[in-house]
Amino acid sequence: MHLITFRRGARVSIGILNAPAGRLTDLSVSAPDLPGDMQDFIALGEGGLTRAAAAHAASSDGDIDLADVQLLAPVPTPRRNIMCVGKNYHEHAREFHSSGFDAAGKQAVPEHPIIFTKLPSSVIGPDVPIPSGNDDTGSVDYEGELTIVIGPGGRDIAPENALDHVYGYTIINDVTSRTQQHRFNQWFLGKSLDGFCPMGPAIVTADEVGDVSLIRLLTTVNGEIRQDAPVSDLIFDVPTLVSTISRGRTLLAGDLIATGTAAGVGIGFNPPKFLQPGDQVNITFDRIGTLRNPVT
Ligand code: MG
Repeated sequence: MHLITFRRGARVSIGILNAPAGRLTDLSVSAPDLPGDMQDFIALGEGGLTRAAAAHAASSDGDIDLADVQLLAPVPTPRRNIMCVGKNYHEHAREFHSSGFDAAGKQAVPEHPIIFTKLPSSVIGPDVPIPSGNDDTGSVDYEGELTIVIGPGGRDIAPENALDHVYGYTIINDVTSRTQQHRFNQWFLGKSLDGFCPMGPAIVTADEVGDVSLIRLLTTVNGEIRQDAPVSDLIFDVPTLVSTISRGRTLLAGDLIATGTAAGVGIGFNPPKFLQPGDQVNITFDRIGTLRNPVT
């Protein structure tokens, strides 16, 4: 199931993207008893999905044209910071380490996952321009990332049980001010600027995505391929990340974990290819979709 949050007129609702593409089911119409907020809906777990699927199948009342709505980030305002993983693809870890912007670690490939967060206020939806001017250092970079959506919360989750806590997946562009990332010796400031977390277009449920090690990341800037890597290249896989972050810490339904990016970011080039106003960034993961954002 492809779950979306969208605005139609003044109203924000959740819905299901239909096949064939181009149509959606407005759950606020076809299942008005369900919550209208994605995080509340996720908290219902399998029960919510079953009710949504039944309403979707039984009624065409909520069936509307995608062109008549504005897609928002599937979780437009996360209740907590988005958790993110640094240097989690082998080739990117080497690329970043040798770029001169890595102030975080002495090793190219980390021994344990590097975790940082992005503020909820950094989130924007598909097709919304990335406001590059919010970084006054002119060093805005893109990072296409597979993002875990937590379903049932939990603490001290064992790796072998971790996938039971994964509700689905979405895509995040972990937009970064490279100069701020380097200058302050941590990653939070350079990655939490307003508008620096494009997300979407949908949350695809885990049953539909299946084994993420079989899918690929493809990022283009103005049509030029920049990142093209299999998710199987992750240094720390999905179960390891969920288990590590939940060790002594409680994960909640709707929490988001961006799993890191692959080689081919702007600072991997010499000279660096930072994002400029007028650029168009498209990030695709098979089975999940394409997140498109222009740069302003
Ligand atoms: Mg990243």
